[in-house]
Amino acid sequence: MKTPLPSYVAPLRGPKKRLIRPVVLAGTTTVLALLCCAGAVVAIIFGDLANQGSDLTSAMTCGNNSQVVVNGEFERVGSYGPTQIRNAAIIVQTGQKLQIPPRGWVIAVATAMQESSLNNHGHLGDRNDHDSLGLFQQRPSQGWGTAEQIMNPEYSSTKFYNKLLAVPNWELLPLTVAAQRVQISAYPNAYAKHEPIATQIVNKLTGGGGRAVLVNGKLRCAGFGQIAASGWTAPVGANVVSAFRTSQRPSHHGVDLGSARLTPIIAAASGVVIDSRCDSVTCAQDGSPFMRGCGWMVEILHAEQVITRYCHMNTRPAVKVGDRVTVGQVIGIVGTTGNSSGPHLHFEVHLDGDESSRGAVNPEVFMASKGAPLGTPVV
Ligand SMILES: [Zn+2]
Repeated sequence: MKTPLPSYVAPLRGPKKRLIRPVVLAGTTTVLALLCCAGAVVAIIFGDLANQGSDLTSAMTCGNNSQVVVNGEFERVGSYGPTQIRNAAIIVQTGQKLQIPPRGWVIAVATAMQESSLNNHGHLGDRNDHDSLGLFQQRPSQGWGTAEQIMNPEYSSTKFYNKLLAVPNWELLPLTVAAQRVQISAYPNAYAKHEPIATQIVNKLTGGGGRAVLVNGKLRCAGFGQIAASGWTAPVGANVVSAFRTSQRPSHHGVDLGSARLTPIIAAASGVVIDSRCDSVTCAQDGSPFMRGCGWMVEILHAEQVITRYCHMNTRPAVKVGDRVTVGQVIGIVGTTGNSSGPHLHFEVHLDGDESSRGAVNPEVFMASKGAPLGTPVV
């Protein structure tokens, strides 16, 4: 059966806007840098990500490898008090003991936030939902264990992780889908809203584990082809050859990644394709610095209303509008169609569902914040 599109798609789509404005170039200018997708209007810069430089990216750690301590004092995170954060610590520590990749910790904490607000609920009398108990509201009558077992947070976390591991490709699924496959909740879309705070809690408890990937039992930032706990990965394994909004190119609202022609481009996170087309007068041949537009391009809408844009593909994209894509799925190949002087991937990140240049943030900072930094993978 065809899966319906998520409900968060519709409100984001206003009237179709032209993405790209003309680039005015002096005819005699020698074009040194790769050029693409420049807007004629300097965007209003807003939000932290727009202003932060690459120095910040190095400060974003991807987890320490010590086990979370569940005794002692815990600080409040958002609306969650020390007792609730301690319960989150038990969930994370149980995941560490079981060698569950950190993506699983985030999914487990977000699920417990939805089910119990991280409270280890006993039976709530008339207010209780069936015989649901504990952090994950598991039910003795449904084979989750005895009431006493379920009220043990380490036991209930272990049961959650065991069920999660049995979900095929759980690490590639959007958090809400993975959580729903375990919990079979009446409110399957309710988990997603907890992902940012769950990630924040996991990061705080583990020194950035919510950004990490588990490699040979050790936490580290994700290299190309690896998916960070945040659910993000770099779209190609290549260095940034032209940065975001430099003084020379203040209207360059993305980064240029220096990949060779025909290199596969992968979706940086799971989501829904909201644009897939030729944005230039022609995409049947290579573009040039004098041609307008993005060439063959794709846009994907992700959780939390983040949009990623991929430009200058060599041929028609491998995905079409409405397709659900999974993180790491190939969506096209590198080329030089549209406003481009040579093969590369122009990559943009937009927040708040805003496709215009005002919504664009620095992809280097954004991707580092997700534990999937751009750049050539470390071998
Ligand atoms: Zn570019």
